[in-house]
Amino acid sequence: MTTPRTAIVTGAARGIGAAIALRLATDGYQVAVLDLDESTAATTVAKIADAGGHALAVGVDVSDEASSQAAVQRVADELGAPTILVNNAGITRDNLLFKLPVQDWDSVLNVHLRGAFLMVKAAQKHMTAQKFGRIVNMSSLSALGNRGQANYAAAKAGLQGFTKTVAIELGKFGVTTNAIAPGFIETEMTAATAERIGIPFEEFKAGAAAQIPVGRVGQPEDVAHLVSFFVSEGAGFVNGQIVYLSGGPNN
Ligand code: NAP
Repeated sequence: MTTPRTAIVTGAARGIGAAIALRLATDGYQVAVLDLDESTAATTVAKIADAGGHALAVGVDVSDEASSQAAVQRVADELGAPTILVNNAGITRDNLLFKLPVQDWDSVLNVHLRGAFLMVKAAQKHMTAQKFGRIVNMSSLSALGNRGQANYAAAKAGLQGFTKTVAIELGKFGVTTNAIAPGFIETEMTAATAERIGIPFEEFKAGAAAQIPVGRVGQPEDVAHLVSFFVSEGAGFVNGQIVYLSGGPNN
C-alpha cells in the first residue's frame, strides 16, 4: 500500500477550513490542520480522529514568513511532504472606504494575499520534487466588488491573479493551482457580518437565500466538495481556474 498524500489546510480550526480538512481526511489524505492557535486546530484533529482519519494540528500565522516556513517544515517532518495545499485562512475587517483604517487594509491583505504567497513559497518545493501538487486558493464572490469590503475584495481579486500565475509557473511540474470563489457560506464569518450590520443571522441567511437560484445559502461542505475534486489525481488538466461557488451563475 502506498503512503497517503499529505494535505495542508490553513484556517482549519473552524468554518470552511474545518470542513475541508475533515473531507480530505475522509478522502484518505493525511491532513495538517493549520490555524493561528494550535489548541483550536486540535479540535478539528479530534473530529478527524473520531472519523477514523489521521491529522496533525499546527499553529501558524500564515502572514509571517518564518512561521509559515516552520509550519510547512514541521508538516513535512511529521506527516511527509505536503503535496496538497489549501490556502483558506482569512479575516474580515469591513468598513466603508472613508473609515477604513490603514492597519485594517494591511492586516486583511497580509492574511489572505501575503499569507497565500508565503505558504505556496514554502510548500512548492515539496510538490515540484514529487512532480505532483495541488494548490487551492480561497477567493470570494466579493472579488467582484462589495460595499464595505475594499480591503477584502482587493485581497480576493489579487488571489485570482496569483492563482493564474502560479498555475502557469508550476504546471510543468505536475502542480495545478485553482481558486474557489464562494458566495454566501454559513460560518462564523457570515454570522459576524450579520451582527455588524445589526440583522439577526437567521433573517440575514433567509434574505441571502431568497436571492440565490438554488434557494439556499452555502454550507462549508459545499466548498469542501469542490476542493476534493480540485486536489484529486484525475483533476490534473484543470489548472488556473476560478470557480464561483454561489448557487447560481450571477451571484
Ligand atoms: P472563519 O470561520 O472566520 O475561519 C477562518 C479561520 O482562519 C479561523 O480559524 C481563523 O483563526 C483563521 N486565521 C485567521 N488569520 C489567520 C492567520 N494569520 N494564520 C492562520 N490562520 C488564520 O472563516 P470562514 O467563513 O470559514 O472562511 C474561510 C475562508 O473562506 C476565508 O478565506 C474567507 O475569506 C473565505 N470565504 C468565506 C465566505 C463565507 O461566506 N463564509 C465566502 C467567501 C469566501 P482565528 O479564529 O484564530 O481568527
